[in-house]
Amino acid sequence: MSRGGFISSDVIIVGGGPAGAACAWRLRQGGASCLILDRQPFPRAKPCAGWVTPQVWHDLGVSPDAYPHSLTVFRRMSITLGGAAFTLPTLQYAIRRIEFDHWLLQRAAAPFQVHLVRNIAPAVGGGYILDDAFFCRYLVGAGGSGCPVYQRLFKPVFPHHPQTQIVAMEAEFAAPIRDPRCRLWFMENHLPGYAWYVPKSGGVLNIGVGGKAAPLKARGDSLKNHWEALLQKLHRMGLLADDPPPPRAYTYFLRQPHPEVRLADALLTGDAAGLATRDMGEGIAPAIRSGLLAADAILHGSRDHQQLRGIPAYSFPSLLRLR
Ligand SMILES: Cc1cc2nc3c(=O)[nH]c(=O)nc-3n(C[C@H](O)[C@H](O)[C@H](O)COP(=O)(O)OP(=O)(O)OC[C@H]3O[C@@H](n4cnc5c(N)ncnc54)[C@H](O)[C@@H]3O)c2cc1C
Repeated sequence: MSRGGFISSDVIIVGGGPAGAACAWRLRQGGASCLILDRQPFPRAKPCAGWVTPQVWHDLGVSPDAYPHSLTVFRRMSITLGGAAFTLPTLQYAIRRIEFDHWLLQRAAAPFQVHLVRNIAPAVGGGYILDDAFFCRYLVGAGGSGCPVYQRLFKPVFPHHPQTQIVAMEAEFAAPIRDPRCRLWFMENHLPGYAWYVPKSGGVLNIGVGGKAAPLKARGDSLKNHWEALLQKLHRMGLLADDPPPPRAYTYFLRQPHPEVRLADALLTGDAAGLATRDMGEGIAPAIRSGLLAADAILHGSRDHQQLRGIPAYSFPSLLRLR
């Protein structure tokens, strides 16, 4: 819709990853108009091991059996912790982000525009203007850890705590799968985090290392050292046939006790809010859950049950209803 020369929508969502797509899906179910702006066309790659928990399928209201793309089911994991190796019975899944995120976005069936959001300004009389081109009443930041909604509106007042910063490096590539087990190595070579080997269906392998940025930096260590150590280990174990393509690095933030997710009519979701779990740095489930909760808050106002599993309530002072 055009309004005063602006492309206008009740809600604009910056970022079409899991948080943004889940938010759009729920908003459209509730009858709200929304527009997703993403700087990249989809399908797009996202550095991520793609490990998802059963909560993801539950929140999406989809059985894993109904997921139409490659899906790997892990009923046990091989873990090494403090030199001890053991097998943990579990039920976890692995998807490929290039497929999963595109599927989520298509499922949301929301208007989508490729646009790199740079400037955000509160509008006189309420709402927000983006890049002098878009107007919305509610703004949802779902742009990952560099989200401009976080950078422009939240960071000056509620910066993420540096101690919660995670750095991660991974590669996903076609390779012969020599071991179908998912393997995790915790705190090897003093890595303040873990390394992983995640075989996926269709002959795709995801390997990587991730950990807390502050302790790495404090002792002059770099993630690259741990990446090299992982490659050597995988070669030694016969799990890698050739060297993988160059890894991609990314940073994001673990959940603080009381993350700020709402300022006026702007809401933050997913990595933009820094919601990854403190134990494993799992971010897909919190991104989806927070996207749904942000949509619920816009549609219906706050609800106590939104305080589930540590995801904060998007508490509006009164029930704000969209037309
Ligand atoms: C190496 C690595 C491995 C990981 N492994 C796992 C895992 O196995 N399981 C798990 O649960 N979590 C994992 N995570 C975390 C997980 O990837 C994130 O928490 C999750 O992607 C967050 O989703 P999101 O929707 O908030 O953001 P994103 O998926 O990052 O999506 C943000 C979107 O916003 C867009 N965007 C950014 N800036 C702008 C802008 N200025 N204008 C317009 N659009 C913009 C981007 O193009 C992107 O499409 C991993 C992270 C890393 C780095």
